[in-house]
Amino acid sequence: MKAHTRETQATMTPQKSLEYLKEGNVRFQNNLKANRNLLEQVNDTSDGQFPFATILSCIDSRVSAELVFDQGLGDIFSVRIAGNFVNSDILGSMEFACKLAGTKLIVVLGHTSCGAVKGACDDAKLGNLTGMLAKIKPAVKAVVNPQDKSLRNSSNTDFVDNVSAKNVELSIERIIEESDVLAEMQNIGEIMIVGAMYDINSGAVTFYE
Ligand SMILES: [Zn+2]
Repeated sequence: MKAHTRETQATMTPQKSLEYLKEGNVRFQNNLKANRNLLEQVNDTSDGQFPFATILSCIDSRVSAELVFDQGLGDIFSVRIAGNFVNSDILGSMEFACKLAGTKLIVVLGHTSCGAVKGACDDAKLGNLTGMLAKIKPAVKAVVNPQDKSLRNSSNTDFVDNVSAKNVELSIERIIEESDVLAEMQNIGEIMIVGAMYDINSGAVTFYE
C-alpha cells in the first residue's frame, strides 16, 4: 500500500474515508496488516502529506489510531489527549487538518475502560490532571443512570463506558458549536464528523452513524 498523494486525496470523499477506516479496523482485528513499506513511505511523503482523515483519540497506549485502523505514514492526522475531549487548541488542529490540509473525515474515537473517564467519574484530583478531568465532567453529569451515587464510579464498568460514549457525543457537539470553519465544511458536505468507540477487549471499532 502506497502513501496518499495529492491525486489520491482528491478522489477521497467523507464516505470513502469512513470505509477506508472500517476496512483497516477489520484488517487489524484479523491481524492482517496491509503490505506497506514504512521506510518507502518516509521517502514518498517527504515532499508533502495528503491524509484523508483526522482522528481525535485518547493517549491510552492501547488505542493508537494508526495501529487500530491499520494506516501508514501520511494517512491520518492523529490528535490525542487523555479523554479525547475538545478544546480550542484541538479545534485549531482540526481546522488545519480539514480546511488547509484536506482531510475529509473527523472521527472522535473513545474507548472502553478509559482511565481519564474513570478519573472524572471518581472526581480524582492531582496537579494539572484535576483541571483536565473537569473537561470530561459534563459527560459524567449527562449520564443520568444509575442515580444511586454509590454506583456512579469507576468500579461500575457499564457506567464508565456510558460516560465515554456520552463524552464522544458531547465532543462532536462542541466541534460543531465552537468551530464555524468545521460546521460549515460539514454543512456543505466537504467533511463528515462521526463518533466511534474502540473496544479494548476485542480491538473492534464501532462507529456511531
Ligand atoms: Zn482513555
